[in-house]
Amino acid sequence: LLNNPNSLAGVTEIIVNHIENHKLDKEKLIGVGIGMPGFVNINEGVNYTYLDSGNESLTGHISDAIGLPVFIDNDSSLIALSELKFGVAKAIKDVMVINLSWGIGLGMIINGQLFRGHSGFAGEFSHIPITEEGALCSCGKQGCLEAEASLLAVAEKALEGIKNGRISSFQGFDDKSKVDAGDALMDVANKGDQFAIELLSEAGYKIGRALSILIHIMNPKAIVISGRGVKVGRLLLAPIQQALNKYCIPRLSGETDIMISEIGFDAELIGAAILVMENFHKEEHQPASVQ
Ligand SMILES: [Zn+2]
Repeated sequence: LLNNPNSLAGVTEIIVNHIENHKLDKEKLIGVGIGMPGFVNINEGVNYTYLDSGNESLTGHISDAIGLPVFIDNDSSLIALSELKFGVAKAIKDVMVINLSWGIGLGMIINGQLFRGHSGFAGEFSHIPITEEGALCSCGKQGCLEAEASLLAVAEKALEGIKNGRISSFQGFDDKSKVDAGDALMDVANKGDQFAIELLSEAGYKIGRALSILIHIMNPKAIVISGRGVKVGRLLLAPIQQALNKYCIPRLSGETDIMISEIGFDAELIGAAILVMENFHKEEHQPASVQ
């Protein structure tokens, strides 16, 4: 995505083809919602990190091509929105939603509302420094949470371990298939593979350490682990709790429930649909008068 000048054209083509191939009736579509990683300006419809759309807005570009309104938001914000509207965070006013996936994102619900911060970029949780000399992060620093504990980071450690002779049922992947490797690693971990469980436990402990910082700052009622990583949520809970026991003041950690999302895998898709629905009611689609 980052260095591919054709990525915007590619995404647009996927959406156009999806509508055509499934013979979707555009009359019945109210818009397209897109969740993306990166610094997203939802009002301008621009992602400052990915899919450079030149002078035009990203949403405007895609909207022109498909003839429907288009909305974008940060993936972790959408996941938090999903958990707030349809997930385990439904009745909770102050809750932090962790998007554990190929990266690690954060969506903050404060007083029942998604908190975006001054410029819309609140919740940059992934670059909290967790170790002094860790893996090199995409941001250029070492030892960031994302570089140490995201599913992609765990997959990289697994590939490295296998190369160095670790015994595991996780096999057959190389550096070119890290995403597939990440999925496979979660599958074998759920089947009891010791090496996979060891790596996920280490990641869980580091996530827990980062969560202790978050708890100290935000004092949330709950933290929801959501995103693709919910598949191994059960395996992560104990090491997360162990890190909280060590790093968090009991008066604070004792007040915060750690929960695993029930919609994690679909949370971003649901959030993208919510985004369209919320804007649909806000914008020009309001009926002029009630008959
Ligand atoms: Zn970083």
